[in-house]
Amino acid sequence: KTQDTTDVAIIGAGPSGAAAAAWLAQRGLDVRVIERSCFPRFSIGESLLPQCMVHLEACGLLDAAKAGGFQTKNGAAFTWRDRYAAIDFRDKFSSGPGITWQVERADFDQRLIEGARQLGAQVEFDTRVDAFVADPERPRLTLVDANGEQRSLHARFVLDASGYGRVLARLTGLARPSTLESRCALFTHIEGRIDYARYDCEKILIGLHPEHPGIWYWLIPFTHGRASVGVVGDRAKLETAGINDKERLWHFIQAEPMLAELLANAKATRDVSRLEGYSADVEQLHGPGFALLGNAGEFLDPVFSSGVTIALDSALRAAPLVERQLAGEHIDWDSQFEQPLRRGVATFREFVDAWYDGRLPRIIFNDQQIPRIRAMISSVLAGYAWDEDNPFVAASRRRLNSLAEVCTDRHRHNDGKDE
Ligand code: FAD
Repeated sequence: KTQDTTDVAIIGAGPSGAAAAAWLAQRGLDVRVIERSCFPRFSIGESLLPQCMVHLEACGLLDAAKAGGFQTKNGAAFTWRDRYAAIDFRDKFSSGPGITWQVERADFDQRLIEGARQLGAQVEFDTRVDAFVADPERPRLTLVDANGEQRSLHARFVLDASGYGRVLARLTGLARPSTLESRCALFTHIEGRIDYARYDCEKILIGLHPEHPGIWYWLIPFTHGRASVGVVGDRAKLETAGINDKERLWHFIQAEPMLAELLANAKATRDVSRLEGYSADVEQLHGPGFALLGNAGEFLDPVFSSGVTIALDSALRAAPLVERQLAGEHIDWDSQFEQPLRRGVATFREFVDAWYDGRLPRIIFNDQQIPRIRAMISSVLAGYAWDEDNPFVAASRRRLNSLAEVCTDRHRHNDGKDE
């Protein structure tokens, strides 16, 4: 066994790892990113939110991402039965960019980590972190390379950006189940052959199953006619159809009229993948000599595409604190990192809850909304979930409750029935 040292060790080269690495390397710190796989590698999480652009700029990776020429995205469209509603992020309440991208993550993630490397971070692919010893000043990782060779890496601080690997949550016993219900996602990439005269490819399309309220779909167009499509729902429900996941995905797509029509000529370009039980949480987002970023800490739900935004937000909150701690300052990770990060996550959680219990669909499909209220909703959906000036951030639950009630009343009034 040989021994090795660095200032900051980062586990995982996804967006949160790359962003933290880029930020810290630019400040002259010695940064080592340890990545289990070889890039480019597939990852789900393809629809970004405009708030991401602020973070990409802050860590110096915006130009590296821009060079990818990704499909622009300016909002989210929703469909349920014969209804259609679009939210344009450019009409949002908070200040900041209103446009972002829909990205194939293999390419996007590779561009980000390559950008971080060019800013001075060292990256080791095909090497996994296998063990960890916490220590406030000298935490230690055990690395295993592709040949099974083990070695130790001593750092002055460790950031866990290992996503669904949840490396430190598992190794330190911080993992705890999410309070959100366990759900299942089936998805693939397609040659869309979509008639874009019928649908705005600058918006993610979220469809709701006409009969089963807990089942929903995404369609995320990329450039060059490609797109990502998926269905999410209770596993047992999804398994009532077809004998394998491919059949199940296409069976459910046929049940949603707009998707069925848009994807009538689509051709899959990869096998159908399944992810389930992905919502996860931890007791605490930090410990002696380490902090957890992105999905390595908490993951909520895919419905509002908040994953990469939260991942980048966590990286840009942690990195400056790491720099200050290594310069000798005392950092209270609870009040300076965990609490402010969790406040924005809590906003998204309220929106996720309101999506699954039907309040948010009622709000979204209500066509008589006051533009200012619509702008506040749009802001959260654009990722500005930390902007306390927005009443739908400062008091999400109360605001969503009362708005949903008004929408229900209007609905009764208009249709003579509740949904
Ligand atoms: P990741 O991007 O997962 O990167 C973690 C890296 O760590 C990986 O490269 C992995 O190989 C590496 N790693 C793991 N274990 C180890 C180890 N032991 N040693 C070394 N390296 C390791 N988010 C969005 O923003 N938009 C969406 O549209 C969206 N859709 C989603 C759909 C579904 C069905 C699901 C489940 C999630 C979706 N997400 C979406 C969430 C998104 O996938 C994640 O939030 C995001 O990828 C998190 O980034 P990260 O940097 O935390 O981790």
